[in-house]
Amino acid sequence: MARETLVDTRTDIDSARSVWSDAAPAYEPVPPLREDAVADVAIIGGGFTGVSTAYHLIRRFPSLRVMILEARHLANGASGRNGGMMLNWINGVSYRDPELTRRVHEATREGIDGIVGLIQEHGLPVRYRRDGCMEVLTDARRAELAHARVEQLAGWGIPLQYLDSAALAQRLGVRGAAGAVLDATEGQLNGVDLLRSLRPLLLARGVALHEDTPVLRIREGRTIELTTPGGVVRAAAIVLATNGYTPRLGYFKTGVFPLHSHVIATEPLDAEARAALGWGQVAGFSDDHDRIAYASMTPAGEIVFGGGSNAAYAYLYGNRTSYPGSPGSAGPAFEAIRRRMIGYFPAAERLRIAHRWTGTLGITMSRLCSMGVRGEHRNVYYALGYSGHGVTLANLAGRVLCDLYAGDHARWRELPFYMAPLGGVPPEPLRWLGYHAYTKLTGRSPRQAA
Ligand SMILES: Cc1cc2nc3c(=O)[nH]c(=O)nc-3n(C[C@H](O)[C@H](O)[C@H](O)COP(=O)(O)OP(=O)(O)OC[C@H]3O[C@@H](n4cnc5c(N)ncnc54)[C@H](O)[C@@H]3O)c2cc1C
Repeated sequence: MARETLVDTRTDIDSARSVWSDAAPAYEPVPPLREDAVADVAIIGGGFTGVSTAYHLIRRFPSLRVMILEARHLANGASGRNGGMMLNWINGVSYRDPELTRRVHEATREGIDGIVGLIQEHGLPVRYRRDGCMEVLTDARRAELAHARVEQLAGWGIPLQYLDSAALAQRLGVRGAAGAVLDATEGQLNGVDLLRSLRPLLLARGVALHEDTPVLRIREGRTIELTTPGGVVRAAAIVLATNGYTPRLGYFKTGVFPLHSHVIATEPLDAEARAALGWGQVAGFSDDHDRIAYASMTPAGEIVFGGGSNAAYAYLYGNRTSYPGSPGSAGPAFEAIRRRMIGYFPAAERLRIAHRWTGTLGITMSRLCSMGVRGEHRNVYYALGYSGHGVTLANLAGRVLCDLYAGDHARWRELPFYMAPLGGVPPEPLRWLGYHAYTKLTGRSPRQAA
């Protein structure tokens, strides 16, 4: 029997611009869908998940009719508004088993290799760097534990590097740090560059892309019908590539919730200003607090800084996916982030903040993401719930979903995100009350233990 899902048509999508889109060349969306159409696979959402899925499907099955329907434009969502850090690991997994730990690090490292390989293979004009990211430890005890952990991981074949406070000061003069763990395989990516530069390639290979085309209604069946303002798409399979927006489509309502995340970026710093600040040769870092602070440095010398406290995030009632008003209306959040940045880099007090923006995270209660296929006809593919850790994973999702579609997915079964059950997000108004009560009372972010 067909399952019908009505999309909430109030889906309005935040238009604040990030440092990534401000740095990008002028961009014109391709025309919206204006007539009924058919597809073998219709992908909803033009972020990393959607575009990487289209890329891998059309590469493997050149005659497949692949379509992307994007409500606004490519990189409108978190993929164009993030902190830019290309990281290893999967959130929400406890790494006690050596085999699982090795497998996850290897898969995510290959995910970063895949992004860089794609850029190099096609000569894409994408700004990125791959000179490592760090976790900074903010007290001596945690630094000691991290050091021991690095040695254990080395024994398991995972080459991370522990930096004591003196070694750290050579690379990153961050105040109050007792040590750091460096993963030299990580880096930073301009997601807007990546997605926009892939557009001509996808179009040349026959992918039908429609921007400014929100999917308003999904009617499941052997053939799935997607209603858009300009026409109905009939597809043999669909991909939910809408991460934090997915509950608005009627799916994963207890699995994922949208959380608004505010970020700032400084003006570009030249080499001298970077040295004065204490930022050496490293793409980015995060700290070891519950609400991590994270920062990365663009190749042009802008510091991108986010997180650091509950003030940097907002949950709005009823899965709202846009942050209301101008970026200025989140003034206290941006100021809290700036103060956190100054806490780490006192010399940042005099830096001009040139960018402020907000993006929509897709958060799960366990912080584990999920990739799989569902529906009576096993034709609704999905990958979502990256919980702020999706630059690598959402790009990897394209390979996973393509392999699932091809029925050739044995290697992914071993990974924790494979068909991971998601749940535990309470309905409104409990969710709103719970989120606000918990964050105010504890200063922490609500989550279930891994
Ligand atoms: C502020 C911020 C900082 C972050 N920092 C990092 C970081 O440093 N490192 C890291 O690994 N991860 C980070 N992340 C997370 C990472 O960016 C995301 O996990 C990843 O980009 C998700 O990609 P996606 O394609 O699944 O979703 P998105 O990029 O959100 O794409 C979903 C797309 O679906 C479209 N859409 C929604 N509804 C519809 C509809 N009805 N019809 C058609 N289209 C629709 C949207 O317009 C959007 O373009 C951050 C996220 C944010 C918000």
